[in-house]
Amino acid sequence: MIELGEVQFKYKKQAMEYVREFLQRHEGSIFDQQSSYFNFFNDLVKRHPEREINNLEQVEVIKNFGGYPAINIKEVGKDFVSISWNKCITGNKASYKLKLRMAMRRAIIDQIMDFKDSCNEYTCSICNEDLTEKVIHVDHEKYFEEIAKEFEETFGKEWELVNLRDHNGWQFKNDSDSSNWQKFHQEKATLRLTCSKCNLSRR
Ligand SMILES: [Zn+2]
Repeated sequence: MIELGEVQFKYKKQAMEYVREFLQRHEGSIFDQQSSYFNFFNDLVKRHPEREINNLEQVEVIKNFGGYPAINIKEVGKDFVSISWNKCITGNKASYKLKLRMAMRRAIIDQIMDFKDSCNEYTCSICNEDLTEKVIHVDHEKYFEEIAKEFEETFGKEWELVNLRDHNGWQFKNDSDSSNWQKFHQEKATLRLTCSKCNLSRR
């Protein structure tokens, strides 16, 4: 259940559609604390998974470069910033998934490096290009995302993650979780060398 001001939504999808349409109708408008829609926006921005917005003053509805509705918000005493209203609705979960994927990728870097080191022939497994002088990518024959999903489905829980000091990534908080995933990945993943073009075209 999502509550935005007076409006309630059973599903995120409904909220997404409602907010998108609302914003399209109000492109160019600015809503301040006097507006009857203020609570609606206040509830919306408070859901942002990565920002704490406690002092909303104004919301400006704009169109982004792609022509989609977007919002800029202003907190008391601060400048306007643009935030993703999409994230406000999808909320913690979507962002948790992204963090989890970052933690998962980080945890298997050693496996990737070890694999690279163990190879003595450098040709792209897909297009056969000679990679001796080229950038070498390590590719998951079965998609990484599939393996990650399988792991989630098998162990199904919310793993505790911690933010790295550089704020540029996430890792598993518990070593046992990390090694559990590493073992799983080691068993399921078939790695191969590819050129960058072949690797990136599979993502
Ligand atoms: Zn290739």
